[in-house]
Amino acid sequence: MSAETPTEKEYTNGELTVVWKQHLCAHSANCVKNLASVFKPRERPWINLENATTSEIKRAVDTCPSGALSYRDNL
Ligand code: SF4
Repeated sequence: MSAETPTEKEYTNGELTVVWKQHLCAHSANCVKNLASVFKPRERPWINLENATTSEIKRAVDTCPSGALSYRDNL
């Protein structure tokens, strides 16, 4: 990866893949407020999909105002 490539990470629980684009993150913390069991900014990895259901994760991702978080269904 070159220095100019924005960081983009993917997390999956098998059913769902969550994509996080670091360069778009506005640090509004909506994700953390909505689903603190999954989004833990002080931990690495900071997204832990095993701690909630797929529908809970989708709901929290939908509150991201910047487009930094998105998801796709794997099934
Ligand atoms: S809700 Fe989106 S913009 Fe806000 S901290 Fe989470 S990922 Fe970043």
